[in-house]
Amino acid sequence: MALDERNECKPDRAQPVRDERSECKPDRAQPSRNATTPTKIKKLGPGELQILWADGHETRHLAPLLRGLCPCASCQDEMTGKRVVLPIHIPDTIEFKKIELVGQYAVHFEFSDTHHTGIYSFEYLRHLCRCPECAK
Ligand SMILES: [Zn+2]
Ligand SMILES: [Zn+2]
Repeated sequence: MALDERNECKPDRAQPVRDERSECKPDRAQPSRNATTPTKIKKLGPGELQILWADGHETRHLAPLLRGLCPCASCQDEMTGKRVVLPIHIPDTIEFKKIELVGQYAVHFEFSDTHHTGIYSFEYLRHLCRCPECAK
């Protein structure tokens, strides 16, 4: 009798590919997708970033704040969400060294203290907006 070895070794059934980006996004009601879609990201100075959003809002971020609120695993505990690094730990002389887009959903910053592991989603950047309107 002949064993068909091909049948013995069954490849794993095709598993649906997980889209991690959509997994991470809680399904909370968003006011508008435009609020998390930047139309322009511009460095205004060594430590200042301007983001214009599709809903017409403008956000200005300072490098020390973003550095202090870095979402990477070494700046905050992934399990508890407890922050290890806080803005008060960051000297206000921190500047942006490099700013680059990550796909269609986030921005990657390299800071002048060489820290470069943080990926800031557009949602997070909008969430961190400290303009008078958002601070209300
Ligand atoms: Zn970090
Ligand atoms: Zn704002």
